[in-house]
Amino acid sequence: MRVALIAHDRKKDLMIQLCTAYKMILEKHELYATGTTGLRIMEATGLDVHRFKSGPLGGDQQIGAMISENMMDVVIFLRDPLAAMPHEPDVTALIRLSDVYEIPLATNIGTAEVILRGLDAGFVDWRQFYNAEGSIKF
Ligand code: PGA
Repeated sequence: MRVALIAHDRKKDLMIQLCTAYKMILEKHELYATGTTGLRIMEATGLDVHRFKSGPLGGDQQIGAMISENMMDVVIFLRDPLAAMPHEPDVTALIRLSDVYEIPLATNIGTAEVILRGLDAGFVDWRQFYNAEGSIKF
């Protein structure tokens, strides 16, 4: 599975704790992250992470582009609900695209844990039920 990891600044320590606790699961998957989040994860855990640009510089949009190409399977996005972000439109777009493509998306640590445990169990790939125009097959 391809897993995207993004954390706003006040959630980065939490992301490190999550990645440390779930390293044995995460290391079995392909990891992608926005720039600063990815660097922090690699330094703290030794996990191999493909880094995109920093979120405010387009990293969220790069991950969104991968979702739209069916190249991302899970998004863990520890967003800060108590701070205004200069790149709020990109944040909204990423959440929206995850819903458009039925990608499992966690925006807090509780949901992130459920998803990471689910990674080992396997998911139904809901995208198989959609045709190219985005309408449902059944
Ligand atoms: P960062 O980006 O990992 O480069 O800090 C995250 C974000 O703010 O969307």
